[in-house]
Amino acid sequence: MNARSTAPPAGGGLAAATEEAVLRVEEVHKYYDMGETRVHALRGVSLTVPRGGFIAVIGASGSGKSTFMNILGCLDRPSAGRYLLEGTDVSHLDKKQLALIRNRKLGFVFQGFNLLPRTTALENIQLPTLYASVDKGERIRRATAALAMVGLADRAAHFPSQLSGGQQQRVAIARALVNGPSILLADEPTGNLDSRTAVEIMAILQDLNDHGLTIVLVTHEPDIAQFAKRVIVFRDGKIRKDEPVLNRPWALQVLQTLPTLED
Ligand code: ADP
Ligand code: MG
Repeated sequence: MNARSTAPPAGGGLAAATEEAVLRVEEVHKYYDMGETRVHALRGVSLTVPRGGFIAVIGASGSGKSTFMNILGCLDRPSAGRYLLEGTDVSHLDKKQLALIRNRKLGFVFQGFNLLPRTTALENIQLPTLYASVDKGERIRRATAALAMVGLADRAAHFPSQLSGGQQQRVAIARALVNGPSILLADEPTGNLDSRTAVEIMAILQDLNDHGLTIVLVTHEPDIAQFAKRVIVFRDGKIRKDEPVLNRPWALQVLQTLPTLED
């Protein structure tokens, strides 16, 4: 216990901010109209994620995970229901408005790292800042800081082909962080990595989450899901299970029990 725990409670404003829902999905449905037929991909999904939440989404193929992530990521809109992002209802915004919100508030990480091949790590990381009217010096400063956050400060001038898979994914995470998003959305970020490297990536995500970043992660690996604070199971377009992770493993500690590549 430190001395701070005996301090008087924070003011109402601060307390309200810590309890604020970063993401709030209310009775969301998504239909895909395919000519004659209609696919009902989400069937009344509701979810609230507080600031600093870390959610793993699992479920069989076709259960609606990507559809749900596309809505969370403002890449698509719900057919019915509401989606509030940091208190703003974004359900009815047009494409241009959604793109602005994506650039300001959201970071994305995918299974394929999607780095530009003939572009250095530092330049790849700067790409999202090009849309954010930031001057060159500030772009480089932010990209350098983001690279340091993922432990790759010494790889700034490397091209993707000169980096391992895990390092490429770390560059992709730095790129997702460069505009200072409040939420990171990761769709199978460890899907292309060996198991040790996957845990290394989870250590970075746990560290970022500890520093306040809200994370939603899709994975099909139960071991990876356990590094989150809460696991949500999708089935047939609905949330079938929503449980906190008890005895959450600390990825940095798990790494010490895993063989290194040289072993
Ligand atoms: P998951 O990511 O869990 O595998 P998806 O969200 O991709 O599931 O898919 C949920 C359902 O919606 C599936 O039946 C899928 O075929 C359908 N679906 C997904 N995207 C589209 C699309 N763009 N057009 C039509 N149907 C789609
Ligand atoms: Mg999917």
